[in-house]
Parts: sequence; structure tokens; C-alpha cells
Amino acid sequence: MSENRNGYRDYHNSTKLVNRRGFLKTTAAALGVAAMGAYPGSALAAEESTANGLPGTVLGRTGLKITRISFGGILSSEPSVLFRAIDQGIRLVHTSPGYQNGRSIEAFGKVMKTRRDKVVLAVKVRPEKLDECLEKLNTDYADIIIPPMDSIQEISDPVLRENFEKAKAAGKVGHMGFACHTQSPALLDKMRELGFYDIILMSYSDTGNPAFIDALGRLREAGIGILAMKGLPKRSSLKPDEKEIALTASLCTSMVGKYNANTVLASIGSFQALEMYYDILETKLGYSNPVLEERYRASLEGNYCAMCGNCTGLCPQGLQISNIIRFRMYRQDYGLAEYAKTKYAAVSPGCDASSCRECGLCEISCTRKLPLRQMLKEAHRLLA
Ligand code: SF4
Ligand code: SF4
Repeated sequence: MSENRNGYRDYHNSTKLVNRRGFLKTTAAALGVAAMGAYPGSALAAEESTANGLPGTVLGRTGLKITRISFGGILSSEPSVLFRAIDQGIRLVHTSPGYQNGRSIEAFGKVMKTRRDKVVLAVKVRPEKLDECLEKLNTDYADIIIPPMDSIQEISDPVLRENFEKAKAAGKVGHMGFACHTQSPALLDKMRELGFYDIILMSYSDTGNPAFIDALGRLREAGIGILAMKGLPKRSSLKPDEKEIALTASLCTSMVGKYNANTVLASIGSFQALEMYYDILETKLGYSNPVLEERYRASLEGNYCAMCGNCTGLCPQGLQISNIIRFRMYRQDYGLAEYAKTKYAAVSPGCDASSCRECGLCEISCTRKLPLRQMLKEAHRLLA
């Protein structure tokens, strides 16, 4: 195996990589359900192009060229992993000041000193806080800002728009989007109607709702770039086994091939995870395994929140139920103890999980039939 000029392993010539791709093919053949090559009947084949020699596409009307898998920094605190991802060709990289207690943006800052011109830089920040972030990132410009917002009220805020326009006029940012955990078709349609946002970072925790997928399709038609998050197996930052690789490859393929995402924003916190995603890119996101995906989806029933939004505003005590369940997931599945505690501490005082009166209303309407009372209690025990 050779090394490139930066001293990293040259994965393009790696025997291990060939074996890994061989594994994806072999697994597919054994299960008799695979399709290698562009996803059959999808928009992927027509749109396919390359970015840095990897499968790529254009991020909607932003015109930015990106790879089909992007680097999510929520698990990242090591500059070396990001250096390697960029040098291997991954184009869009994303971080937030809150990730890893500030260590993620710090690591990104070290990398941006020499790699800024190689990437599309996306930051989870509001425009009024952008200067602070740019300083940490050792750059004077972010291509995209994506603050978290989950309601029509939030995305319609004229002050936010004004602040963004000021930052854009000052040459500090190119495009505005938002990160959304609530799969509400009405919210997505409102985004399209506003015509202001160019990008959405959307939770794909549940792809079983046709109304949600159709709303995403309307966004794509309107030229809005879609970044998919949270649609992959949990704990994918740890050393993945073969089953996890096959499942992850298939889910990535479906997100870009069937469910309208331009790119999958994968949380990459280790060299092993990076290698897995690089291998998946090398298969041109052509590995499809519906059986494995279906089993995975079934395993989420009763265990994981779909972020469908059905319980929003339902609790008589005013609890942000799905948010609290998500913070519990950050703690339990991603191992992000501090980040989860910080998020939990920011829920309105008097509205944390300890104020649940166990009326059971939320459980009756929960799409995934989650034991929410028990999960909320556990969230409070872990995060308070
Ligand atoms: S069970 Fe608790 S969280 Fe659910 S609706 Fe009732 S008070 Fe709210
Ligand atoms: S807790 Fe249940 S109803 Fe609420 S967002 Fe999650 S899956 Fe949907």
C-alpha cells in the first residue's frame, strides 16, 4: 500500500479496499437482493457526476459541487480524521460550536488553516453568532450556515433573514439553510414558499412516511439542496462489522437514490468510520439491500423516535418530548454525555422530564409506540 504526499495511506490502491468492496458484492450476491451500479430507476443515475473523483452532485441552486457522502463533525475532535477525509476527496464538511464541547470546531479550525479552499464549509450557527465561529475556524467565510429550527414560526423570522443578508453582504457567508429534526410536510412546504433558504439539513430517522418524502421531492424540484442526517445505524463511529457496513451502504444508497437527498451527512469520528464511508462512495452508492433495511426499520419500532412531530405541542405540561428523547439518544447511542446534558439543560425551566405527570397522552399518539414515560424518566436520570 502506498502513501500519498501527506503520509496517509493511499486508499485508491489499497488491497484492503478492494477486499471490502468485494465484501459488499459478496454479501449482496449471497442475499440475492442487491443491485450494484446506480440505483435502479432513481434520479441518481441521471444526475451522477463526480467531485474530486468521487460520486458527486450539485447541491441544488447553490451550485456547490459536493460528494454524495459528506463529513459530519458531531463525533469529531481529531484533526487527523478530517485531514484524511478532505485529502481523500470528501467535499462538504460540517461542524457546530456545540459539538464535542467545542473540540470539534477547534479541530476544524486547525484543518481549515491549510484546507479551507478544498471544502464546502457548513456551520450550524445563527448569522448573529457567525463572527465568533469564523474566528475559531481560522477563516473569514462559511459557504453555508444551518442553524437548528423546527417550526414555521422560527423559519419565518424576518430578523434572522435580515442578519443573514448583512453577513452575506459583508462577504462572510454564501447560503442559508436550517437543520430540522421534525419531519413535518407543512414546515417543508413553508420553507419552499418562503424562497429564502437554499439548503435543509433534514433528519431521515423515518423514511416510511410518503407525505414527508413527497415534500422532500418538492424541495428538490424547487432547487433546495438536501443534506440527510440521522438515517444511519447508531454507533457507526465505532469499528463497524460487516453487517453494519452492508446496512450503512444500503441506507446511504436509498437516501440519495430514493428519498431525495443530495448528500448523506455522515457522523465520522474515527478512521474506521471514514474508511467505511469511503468504501461506500467507491461502490458509487450502488449497494441496495431492502431486506436488511426492512429488518433495521423493524428494530427501531418501540425503541427509537422517528422525529415525526406527532407529539409536538401535545403535552399538557409543555414537555418537548421528542427533543428530550433525542438528547437521551445522544447520550446513550453517540456517547455524547456533555453535549446531551448541555442540550437538556437548555430546555425551558419547569419543562424538563421530571415535570411529566404520566398522563400517557403522548404514548397514545406516538407513531413508534414508544414507552415515552419510561424513556423520559430515564432521560432525566441520565441528563439532569
Ligand atoms: S405522559 Fe408525561 S410527557 Fe407524556 S403527555 Fe403526559 S405529562 Fe406529557
Ligand atoms: S416521540 Fe413518537 S410521536 Fe413524538 S416525534 Fe418521536 S416517534 Fe413521533
